[in-house]
Amino acid sequence: MPNTAAAQRACPFCEIIRGASEVSLCYEDATALAFMDIQPVRAGHVLVVPRAHYERVDDLPRAVGLHLYDVATRLIPVIQQVSGTRDMNIVVNSGAGAGQDVFHFHVHLIPRAAGDGFDVPLPFPGSEMPDRTRLDAMAARIISAMRDPVAHATPAAAPS
Ligand code: AMP
Ligand code: ZN
Repeated sequence: MPNTAAAQRACPFCEIIRGASEVSLCYEDATALAFMDIQPVRAGHVLVVPRAHYERVDDLPRAVGLHLYDVATRLIPVIQQVSGTRDMNIVVNSGAGAGQDVFHFHVHLIPRAAGDGFDVPLPFPGSEMPDRTRLDAMAARIISAMRDPVAHATPAAAPS
């Protein structure tokens, strides 16, 4: 859903941001806020969220993305200290196919401990190691697209 008034009205994080629903805030500034996930993997599971409604990672202006990462890197050592665990997953689900449930961009900061039952299984057990030539070919395509992003627009960004 685009960044429309309707999208924002239906968005649980926009609701939090306009003060219309309960939240346990742990950080805020003019661009971003961070609050406790309502259904944490473990105590200390925090979401870092832009105040403006951007749905996906590719909707996010670069400066906002960099700011969110800056906030995350400042929160991480504090969460480690408060939760008493150094191990963490930093997770972004962008798009339904990637498991995104709330379509207001957010970064999960998840303290972890052995045996907690959560997992981001990488390497993915359902995949095989491709031939080096295929890895090289994809790397070359990315290098080329970095040089000429317009000519190599992604299917989602390309005009229909
Ligand atoms: P994702 O699959 O990355 O979109 O995850 C959405 C996350 O938002 C989940 O971990 C939910 O528990 C969390 N969540 C949903 N609604 C709220 C809310 N009102 N306050 C805090 N966290 C929420
Ligand atoms: Zn929103």
